[in-house]
Amino acid sequence: METEFWQRDIELMSRADLEAFQLGCLKKTLKLAAHSPFYSNILTESVIDSIRTLDDIRRLPLVDKQTLRDNFPYGFLAKPMTEIVRLHSSSGTTGTPTVVFHTQHDLDLWANMTARSAFMAGARPDDVFQNIMGYGLFTGGLGFHYGMEKLGALVIPSAAGNSKRQIWFMQTFGTTVCHILPSYSMRLLSFFPECGIRPKDLKLRIFFIGAEPHSDALRRQIEEAFGVQAFNSYGLSEMCGPGLAFECRERNNGMHLWEDQYLMEIIDPATGEVLPDGEEGELVLTSLQREAMPLIRYRTHDLTRIIPEPCPCGRTHRRIARFKGRSDDMLIINGVNIFPQQIEKAVMSVPEIGAHYIIEVSKENLLDRIHVKVEVNPNSFSGSLDQMDGIRRKVIDALKTELGVNPRVDLVAPNSLPEQEGKAKRVFDLREKDYL
Ligand code: AMP
Ligand code: ZN
Repeated sequence: METEFWQRDIELMSRADLEAFQLGCLKKTLKLAAHSPFYSNILTESVIDSIRTLDDIRRLPLVDKQTLRDNFPYGFLAKPMTEIVRLHSSSGTTGTPTVVFHTQHDLDLWANMTARSAFMAGARPDDVFQNIMGYGLFTGGLGFHYGMEKLGALVIPSAAGNSKRQIWFMQTFGTTVCHILPSYSMRLLSFFPECGIRPKDLKLRIFFIGAEPHSDALRRQIEEAFGVQAFNSYGLSEMCGPGLAFECRERNNGMHLWEDQYLMEIIDPATGEVLPDGEEGELVLTSLQREAMPLIRYRTHDLTRIIPEPCPCGRTHRRIARFKGRSDDMLIINGVNIFPQQIEKAVMSVPEIGAHYIIEVSKENLLDRIHVKVEVNPNSFSGSLDQMDGIRRKVIDALKTELGVNPRVDLVAPNSLPEQEGKAKRVFDLREKDYL
């Protein structure tokens, strides 16, 4: 167990004190949220007065990504624009994004959370931190960037991609801690032989891995290959981003969720009913200290359970288990959120395409790969190879524009995809087994 804690007073707070603190924050949050157009009708004075315990929150409505989209862009804004200093968005590339606003206070709290998480995992001011995550709207880059600066580490904002250069940075500046997508870790590995160096010859000691589902087996593989300890990191842009829940040095497949900042519930995704601690369901979060865009009972659609047993590290903030998947159909492709409807929209924008298509997602060369099989419209089907190739290119271009990814596309003859009874199953995620 660590003998030193970065925010000892908060991390070791007794459950009773923590819950009293949460209730105080919740009341402030409700009052603040009432300033936003969306909550102004819901959070009337009498409703706010009726929330006297943490459990009373169950009387308030659940919201989700769709609610955010329906109220895009300013419907949840609780502070005047003059106080807003940044916006971020979820990792999906197109469509109406979910945009999240921050005041300086929100950004400071977020940096505290990432710094606290990193310290918990063992990062210290003398570390060299390489942030191999997309910078920009995606929260993975800037989220950890400011936290690690706060911690006092040397930050290399190397961002995503450019594998040989990543290795060069690691070698030249003696990188000790990396923030990296689990899928990209394995990809990066394949570039080491070309660079004439072995990962274990570097000074690497800690990886923060997250932003996408991954198995404990993959974590162990990463640890073995790089000679590091890898810590699971969970976050979502609607709740700031990474740093929301993080593994401690026990690395027991549970992530401490920072309960001074977020109130968690686990619900039955079908009924919305709150489930007792320990039961698996969908994680629902309420922000407790955010100002710009407080969210109350936000459905993450991520499936997990609260681990009720105390953690041997001594922290009182409860842990959530490794994620089991999602309760909606969102796919996470190499860390980027994609909804099947986006694929459908792109495919259907090509007039020569018929009504049927399927999407297969698999692992290829350690990366996620989308494979779309589409039927040609019977009226446009001539069977000529040239014509088929032209249509195929149109579909690829439409998918590239809509999604920013480069999927494999196969055209098939009209009515050749298997007929399905009932609701069509269009997405076949062949990676699924790997997550459990
Ligand atoms: P974004 O808002 O783009 O950062 O995407 C957030 C989503 O990424 C979450 O709702 C999860 O579905 C997924 N995610 C993030 N971190 C993890 C993790 N450590 N394990 C599993 N899924 C994750
Ligand atoms: Zn712990």
